[in-house]
Amino acid sequence: LLDAQGAPRPTIFAEMSALATATGAINLGQGFPDEDGPAAVLEAARAAIADGVNQYPPGLGMPVLREAIARHQKRFFGLEVDPDREVLVTAGATEALAAALLAFVGPGDEVVTLEPVYDSYAAIIALAGARHVTVPLSAPDFLPDPEALRAAVTDRTRVILLNSPHNPTGVVLDAAFLDLAIELAHRHDALVVTDEVYEHLVFDGVQHVPAASRPGARGRVVSISSAGKTFSTTGWKIGWLTATPELRDAVLAVKQFLTYVNGAPFQPAIAVGLDLPDSYFAGAAAALQAKRDLLSEGLRAAGLTVSRPSGSYFVIADAASLGVDDADAFCRSLPERAGVVGIPLTAFVHPDRRAPYRSLVRFAFCKRTEVLTEAAERLAALR
Ligand code: PMP
Ligand code: GLN
Repeated sequence: LLDAQGAPRPTIFAEMSALATATGAINLGQGFPDEDGPAAVLEAARAAIADGVNQYPPGLGMPVLREAIARHQKRFFGLEVDPDREVLVTAGATEALAAALLAFVGPGDEVVTLEPVYDSYAAIIALAGARHVTVPLSAPDFLPDPEALRAAVTDRTRVILLNSPHNPTGVVLDAAFLDLAIELAHRHDALVVTDEVYEHLVFDGVQHVPAASRPGARGRVVSISSAGKTFSTTGWKIGWLTATPELRDAVLAVKQFLTYVNGAPFQPAIAVGLDLPDSYFAGAAAALQAKRDLLSEGLRAAGLTVSRPSGSYFVIADAASLGVDDADAFCRSLPERAGVVGIPLTAFVHPDRRAPYRSLVRFAFCKRTEVLTEAAERLAALR
């Protein structure tokens, strides 16, 4: 977490966003949208501030939001969630992940994740003093091998931490893989914690399957999501966790001393968002799919090989065809060579295991069409 001088190391996202700002390059690194989300949600936050919703909200989150989360889980996934006993509002998915891991694991325990892996997971596993065990996702399709999961989960495993749709690969885990994770959790007395922040951003007719909807999930699965991606409000940091009362309360015990509470006026606004009609959610996914296709075509035209993500904000491009075998150096030179910023996939992989990923770059396509068109034109300079 610290550099050789003892200073906090910036995250790869902060570092690459700073590079984009310094060079004037188009920032396809850090995943955040460059357009506001639904007007009704923004207006509800303004109204809440005007109405004086500006003090500490309740520790569990405001009832209006917890009830909307429960309705959302029922409407989209058929899940029955008790808004009072089974929901916890958090400072983004990031805090839910941190509080859950700190609640459930300690020194000597093991946490199994897929790898490449979202950066905060490795950091929180380390903060909890636990050991990080990984299941590799390999190019070109990045689908996990069920046998690798079987091999990774042992009696030392406390948490199987899964992310679907997956950042950075865009893989969407299928029901069979989730069922295996739940089966292994039962066998080894572990928990399955799922990060579903991209739950609505799925493409090509692929369905997001929450692990909580699978047989045997009750009491074994802790589900985490966030409003950031679904409503293009990444800066509001409203997330949530759903689990059985006992598990929810264990996470609350930690969460109350991390942030206590957050985002009072944003909570009723996100409740408005969660109750938007189905057409909003379908429209957001369809618009993002078109952006995926636009950027993918630009990358292909520039001579790179491109993955086909089923969800998320991200596409993986292989620059091996351009002679690249050090994605980190390539990404640092990209602003100058092509006026674009991407993130080396190696940033999501432990230093000892980076070799298979050394020509791969993650590009974010959650940007306005004109920005993606301009990026595609600039990338042509790589040819
Ligand atoms: N998990 C994943 C997989 C993410 O991509 C992100 C943010 N991009 C987060 C968690 C963090 O979500 P939040 O901003 O709600 O904390
Ligand atoms: N989740 C975003 C991404 O993957 C970044 C969030 C952050 O900067 N921590 O790009």
